[in-house]
Amino acid sequence: MLLRLISFLLLQGLGGLLGIWLTPQELQIRGGLAGMLAAGLLWVLVDFTRGLRVLQWLRQDDVSDVPLKLGLWGVVAERVRRMVRLREQATRESDRRLQDFLAALQASPNGVVLLDASGRIEWFNQMAATHFGLDPERDQLQHLVNLVRDPGFAAYVAAGDFRTSITMPGRGHSTAHPVRLSVHLHPYGDGRRLLLSRDITMFEQAEAMRRDFVANVSHEIRTPLTVLSGFVETLQTLPLEASERARYLDLMAQQASRMQSLVSDLLMLSRLEGSPLPGAAECSSVPMLMSQLEQEARALSAVLNPPMAGPAQQLVFEPAPRCELAGTASELHSALSNLVSNAVRYTPAGGEVRCGWLQHADGRGEFFVQDSGPGVAPEHIPRLTERFYRVDRSRSRDTGGTGLGLAIVKHVAQRHGAELKIESVLGKGSRFALVFPASRVRVV
Ligand code: ADP
Repeated sequence: MLLRLISFLLLQGLGGLLGIWLTPQELQIRGGLAGMLAAGLLWVLVDFTRGLRVLQWLRQDDVSDVPLKLGLWGVVAERVRRMVRLREQATRESDRRLQDFLAALQASPNGVVLLDASGRIEWFNQMAATHFGLDPERDQLQHLVNLVRDPGFAAYVAAGDFRTSITMPGRGHSTAHPVRLSVHLHPYGDGRRLLLSRDITMFEQAEAMRRDFVANVSHEIRTPLTVLSGFVETLQTLPLEASERARYLDLMAQQASRMQSLVSDLLMLSRLEGSPLPGAAECSSVPMLMSQLEQEARALSAVLNPPMAGPAQQLVFEPAPRCELAGTASELHSALSNLVSNAVRYTPAGGEVRCGWLQHADGRGEFFVQDSGPGVAPEHIPRLTERFYRVDRSRSRDTGGTGLGLAIVKHVAQRHGAELKIESVLGKGSRFALVFPASRVRVV
């Protein structure tokens, strides 16, 4: 400011002197005053132009280069430039933070929708778009209740009690392909709301399966238990002949062994679910495995088809090639013996059960069991490996089935990278096969 005053006074002085010097002697005072006035006007004009340049510069979008460096206007321009630069930096920083924040919300496995105070959509992530079928361009600032047309959701929003979440069908829900969402609204700020949605279809399905499983197990255990306790009561209360007593004890032993099979199959399933995947270090000899299966099959067939009950079953075990199967031996044995025992149990007396091992040209190995039993109708085939799914309930129970055999086979197959193939013709017979990958089969 002082510099500005000095420059003004200096120019005034110079103007006055020039006025005196240029005018005749008798007019020198007037000349001096006119010179000072002209100098003052010049100073104001220069100052005005400099101010105008700064003003024009300020009107531009880009203020990175100052138009003047010296004088008051230079200082003003520099200060403004610095302030603008700092503001821009702060804006860039908060913009970056906002982008990071939105990217984090975008990456969330949950749907996120930000609603304004009147319930209009301000922002939503891709997962919310999938959950509710929203369009990022079309649906901005739309009222969410107009787009999510579920009566339960509308009632939830209208009630205004957001302490708990609700479940509702998601986009594309149908009875065949259910999509279930858990939706929770959280109020924040001045009347705004944050909506979080989560796909709980799998969770609900798992929960339903768990409930069914517990109900099935309870039912399967309760039936033999009721029979057993009935016999115990009879034995306790009635004076029975020795032969009758022996018959009752026989029936009791059958029920106890049924429960035992059920419990051991359940334990097997839980072991299969909980243990690490089988490696390739353990190997079973296929011919030995086949001969063990043959012995078991013959023993079971003899029990189920006593000579007086009719013609014997034909059991054919084709000679197995010399090869080894890599995987957990107990699991492999359990899977193959389940398939063999099913064939023996469901094939009536006089029927044929054929078992064998096929070595494919590409190195895969196929274990198969073919029977001339009742067969399975096509609509049942996809469900056979479900736990407790039975087509012929009474035949299954009568022959000691638990309804878990094929579920165990499926698990073992999955764990060993094998494929379970089921072919069946109703009234003609069935063919169950396990095809093992080449990596698990070693020809010796
Ligand atoms: P289960 O202990 O009842 O045999 P599984 O899981 O082994 O249970 O088999 C499921 C159902 O598949 C059986 O109840 C039966 O109805 C059908 N099934 C399995 N194997 C055969 C077969 N070889 N022939 C006909 N039906 C079969």
